[in-house]
Amino acid sequence: MPRTPVDLIIHNAKQLVTASGFTQRPATGREMGQLNILEDGAVAISNGQIVAVSKSRDILDSYDASEKIDAGGEVVTPGLIDAHTHFVFAGSRETELELKIQGVKYLEILEKGGGILRTVRDTRAASKGDLLASCRKRANNLLKHGTTTIEAKSGYGLELATEIKSLEVINSLNEEGPLSLVPTFLGAHAIPAEFDGKVNEYVELICEDWIPRIQQLRLAPFCDVFCEKGVFEIEESKRILLTGKRHGLMPRIHADELYPLGGAELAAEVGAASADHLLYASETGIEKMKQAAVVATLLPAAPLTLMLDRYADARKFISTGVPVALGSDLSPSCLLENYQLVIALACYEMKMTPAEALIAATINAAHSIRRADQIGSIETGKKADIAIFQVPDYRFLGYQLGTNMVDTVVKNGKVVVRDGRLK
Ligand SMILES: [Zn+2]
Repeated sequence: MPRTPVDLIIHNAKQLVTASGFTQRPATGREMGQLNILEDGAVAISNGQIVAVSKSRDILDSYDASEKIDAGGEVVTPGLIDAHTHFVFAGSRETELELKIQGVKYLEILEKGGGILRTVRDTRAASKGDLLASCRKRANNLLKHGTTTIEAKSGYGLELATEIKSLEVINSLNEEGPLSLVPTFLGAHAIPAEFDGKVNEYVELICEDWIPRIQQLRLAPFCDVFCEKGVFEIEESKRILLTGKRHGLMPRIHADELYPLGGAELAAEVGAASADHLLYASETGIEKMKQAAVVATLLPAAPLTLMLDRYADARKFISTGVPVALGSDLSPSCLLENYQLVIALACYEMKMTPAEALIAATINAAHSIRRADQIGSIETGKKADIAIFQVPDYRFLGYQLGTNMVDTVVKNGKVVVRDGRLK
């Protein structure tokens, strides 16, 4: 029998973590521990897509490729998906680390014109070319650490021109590749200095002017809001999210991060794709999220870098049947480019098992950004976005801290990282 020619074969994987079976709906409850691992597994790839997944022997008997990757002794997983990043920003905020150490609270730093407001000044001042260049470098760093798709928010403009500039940078980088970026409009990230004390006027502007413009320019499929006490409270958040929805932007929400405000309930009410953070989500809110099939995108690096003692109650979300996804919360206050560390934090700080954390960082993260039809698992018909880790067991992704364990990254069927280095 002649073998079918394909572009690329990955074979001999000690563990091929497929995360299969959850394309139609995310994994919940006990399913979150089901990685569907194939030992001595292989994948055949053609035209950027996965065409077959089976034991190495079967694949090598049925397919032939000019390029073969021997993943001997290694672990192969779907490319990691980061479902929450504040990816586009200029400057950095290393000086705030010392304030945090002295115990100055996040909202206090914000009130003094630091935090987000400082990054807003830097991002407004940056040219589009400079922003693109710094973000390209960041995108490559993410890729080197096994991340193949991210959700990327605007939100350091807080004025229309810079919000548009930020979303254009995200869209340009996505077109350029190899990292895939899914843009979210987050004009309601903070109240800009020029609207101090005039939150209603700012909300009005976002709803009446900015959202229709973002939709007209087709810059983002999602609209997000930083729903928090003293920032955008429930009624304001609701208005923004429902206005976005009317204009075809799917809602997602920063909910109950620092204070129990009812963000989880609001996420369910507006039919959000995802509610994120959720450290203070109420029991009712969690139940409502389950009923409304809202994904809980948990971000354990956020409380770590905010130096909080509290983490989201991942076990409660899982036992209630809410699908849990992960995100890095990459931002100037959480400068984290190695997503493997988020998987480890999910285990050590939120008591997720390594299997649950991997499901949350792949197929459930794909659901959080509504891309599960294309990515998030190693299954026939999906995009060939694959990470190969130099570890003998998938549990190392939860267990080992801070090291980049990536050997190879395949994006859209092409090898983009080899021996941990960009090609
Ligand atoms: Zn965020």
